[in-house]
Amino acid sequence: MNLDKNGLVIIGNGIAGITAARKLRQLHPKIRIRIISSESDLFFSRTALMYIYMGHMSLKDTQAYPKSFFAKKNRLELIKDHVDEIHIEAKELKLRKQAKIEYDFLLLASGAKYNKFGWPGQDSDGVQGLYSLQDLELLEKNTSKHKVNHAVIVGGGLIGIELAEMLHVRGIKTTMLVREKNYWNNVLPLEESQMINEEIREHHLDLRLETELKEILADKDGRATGVITSRDEKIECQLVGLTAGVSPRIELIKNSTIETQLETQRGILVDSHMQTTNKYIFAAGDCAQLRNADASPGPVEQLWYTGRTHGSVAARFIAKRAYEAENKNEQANSISAEPYNRGTHFNSAKFFTIEYQTYGQVTPKIKAGETFIWQDKKAKKLIRLLWNASSPERIITGMNFLGTRYRQNVCTEWIEKKKSLEYVVKHLAKASFDPEFYKPSYRSFQKAFKMPFELHRPL
Ligand SMILES: Cc1cc2nc3c(=O)[nH]c(=O)nc-3n(C[C@H](O)[C@H](O)[C@H](O)COP(=O)(O)OP(=O)(O)OC[C@H]3O[C@@H](n4cnc5c(N)ncnc54)[C@H](O)[C@@H]3O)c2cc1C
Repeated sequence: MNLDKNGLVIIGNGIAGITAARKLRQLHPKIRIRIISSESDLFFSRTALMYIYMGHMSLKDTQAYPKSFFAKKNRLELIKDHVDEIHIEAKELKLRKQAKIEYDFLLLASGAKYNKFGWPGQDSDGVQGLYSLQDLELLEKNTSKHKVNHAVIVGGGLIGIELAEMLHVRGIKTTMLVREKNYWNNVLPLEESQMINEEIREHHLDLRLETELKEILADKDGRATGVITSRDEKIECQLVGLTAGVSPRIELIKNSTIETQLETQRGILVDSHMQTTNKYIFAAGDCAQLRNADASPGPVEQLWYTGRTHGSVAARFIAKRAYEAENKNEQANSISAEPYNRGTHFNSAKFFTIEYQTYGQVTPKIKAGETFIWQDKKAKKLIRLLWNASSPERIITGMNFLGTRYRQNVCTEWIEKKKSLEYVVKHLAKASFDPEFYKPSYRSFQKAFKMPFELHRPL
């Protein structure tokens, strides 16, 4: 290995790739680190894409580090190019514009792409997803250079509702086609889903539940003019947003010896140190799929926080391996290469005006007698607690908050420390951080909770 010359090459400058680069530089000051991306010159926050379109932020506002942070402060070399091929035996990459480059270690942090399910007309002009900066530019072009009176969004996840809000702000009438009975109810329990249904409709969106896309219609120039739904309805539109989920970008290693979960088109399989089936190649973020303890494929988690943790875990392990390769045992031993630990699940989002936070395992399938919700429909607030009824203390296992904010560190600690339901209800004030002058939601929750337990509506 020639770590000063080849070192680590990272494909992808998203949260997973950049976290890995920063962490590795802290742990190993000398190793050469190059980061390749064909999407953008600098790392930016993908979760903030909607705010650029809505005019709340510029692209620069979403870039956490200036150019000088990379080259001058941290000796991280940025390469704007596309990797076309990986030659695993030779440990080199073929780039589209520049000469091929060699690596000692390679980190695949290539992210994801939006799904297209082979719908007739899906490649027409005016049909697009929302994942990359280029998608954002295309949306800008599609909605400003072309007259869009009506848009149809296909799919009702987090990106679907963001796109709906973006179009709403520009005054574009929008229909959302959602396969499920209620918005995102493959993830949200019924009450939460129904609350978001109402929120969407309150913003004058035409929400069509249990409805899928069948076909996209186009004119003679190949531009979208409408859709046909699974209910055989025709909806005229000039823009079709495809937001029916994303899939890991794995095309670079498709015909290689690196194992993927190919049958289901999922991610690049990695162990708990983010190592693939090749000991010099690692994967992190949206493109990676962790194996379970028994080596079977675990879930793909396409979340910002997951990408960040993946990147950090990969960097620690690569640093250790790099020192070992240099026979620097003292440095190698000083690095604790902790395996990936998913920790307590957390996610947050905003559905138009309603903020959402979730902790632990809250799924739509809740067992009877294991949940309690308090809801104020008018104020658009909801708190749900979940517990394990098989334990006499009723150990808390999950929480959902809509329209009200609770502290992440406190909620996570309660789940990790296996606090009882009664403890959590009693101490809710400790986690609440609704802005001043707001009536604190925990008081209403506690009041409702004092009802005889049998009266609580089991799901
Ligand atoms: C609109 C939107 C909103 C979101 N909101 C949330 C949210 O609220 N909360 C949350 O947790 N998550 C959210 N996510 C998901 C989150 O943004 C992703 O999980 C995360 O950004 C993935 O990071 P990553 O580093 O794995 O990959 P990416 O950020 O996708 O970075 C990968 C990079 O690699 C580049 N690349 C790929 N292949 C090549 C190649 N061959 N050559 C050169 N470059 C290549 C890509 O172009 C890309 O720039 C959202 C995603 C989107 C699109």
